[in-house]
Amino acid sequence: MKSAVFPGSFDPVTLGHLSIVEAVAPLFDKLYVAIGVNADKSGCFPLEKRKKWLRIALSSFNNIEIIDYKGLTVDLCRQLEAPYLIRGLRNSIDFQYEKDMAETNRLLWPDLQTIFVPTLPEYSCISSSVVRDLFRHGGDCSHFLPKGVNLK
Ligand code: ADP
Repeated sequence: MKSAVFPGSFDPVTLGHLSIVEAVAPLFDKLYVAIGVNADKSGCFPLEKRKKWLRIALSSFNNIEIIDYKGLTVDLCRQLEAPYLIRGLRNSIDFQYEKDMAETNRLLWPDLQTIFVPTLPEYSCISSSVVRDLFRHGGDCSHFLPKGVNLK
């Protein structure tokens, strides 16, 4: 069975995340969408809400499992026997950071292959942090959120 992990904060899930899942889910038997619970990065939305919105956004896929984890993503991949790590790329800043992470992870688990997926041009400006800012200031977030996801 060919399994992959798409890790992130998903705080909240956006159309950008969804487009990455749409691109890669057909390539694997199983795709773990893994919410990283990071002690240094206190998310704006509670974990349970982030999970609920992911479930709504990804309800049409039948090979996806939504999980959460603490610790190193590379350790999660190893535990799950999922040697493919999916990351989306919006721009060259994402690339530089992600390339360094991919090289580090490869040192920690040589079997791990990081797969970069370029975003669609219309989604390159979308980030969870922009959505959180809009939400905080009462802006309309619906342009950036998958169908059925309502932050209120
Ligand atoms: P992290 O804190 O791990 O970056 P995010 O939830 O912000 O968590 O992002 C998870 C993954 O989704 C990352 O690989 C990121 O590059 C990708 N991603 C986020 N927004 C977009 C977008 N608009 N288009 C494509 N990929 C995206």
